[in-house]
Amino acid sequence: MNYYSAPIARLIEAFTRLPGIGRKSAQRLAFHVINMPLEDVELIANTILDAKKSIKYCNICTNLTDSDTCAICADSSREPSIICVVEDPRDVAAMERTREFKGYYHVLHGAISPLEGIGPEDIKIKELLHRINESTIAEIILATNPTIEGEATAMYISKLVKPLGIKVTRIAHGIPVGGDLEYADEVTLAKALEGRREL
Ligand SMILES: [Zn+2]
Repeated sequence: MNYYSAPIARLIEAFTRLPGIGRKSAQRLAFHVINMPLEDVELIANTILDAKKSIKYCNICTNLTDSDTCAICADSSREPSIICVVEDPRDVAAMERTREFKGYYHVLHGAISPLEGIGPEDIKIKELLHRINESTIAEIILATNPTIEGEATAMYISKLVKPLGIKVTRIAHGIPVGGDLEYADEVTLAKALEGRREL
């Protein structure tokens, strides 16, 4: 039984597709949008479409960018022999906020999770290996999340990269187990980077 007219029902339904938005929140958002001035609604709708259409993967680190190469990869003042491997573009932003890391990044877009059916081929490991083969890399810092999936991913990459004679380190101290890099404060994350250990 639907008490709302079709366009409102569809709008509520659309909002429930967003993460963390249940039925009640979706209804609240839908009615809020209906009551907003048309130009505000157009601004939000167009901004979403524009972001979605213009964002692509950086052709070097696979971070999200609106050009072929992201701003970090395009910055030649950074240390080219160190790559920090993270799960998510938000983790790059978190690491950058520490101002401690001067190398480059590689974004995996996920972590290995057999339970969820996510294997090594489903995340950007191939691209990382290609990068390592194409350039002179001295150290790979594995900054995946300290979760079971993040640890499994770090171990997997370590086993592939170490035989190539490259130093492999893992961020360690500071980040709580089960925690998320994105939500760690700058000091905690800086400490974690400082206390990284060789694998
Ligand atoms: Zn990049």
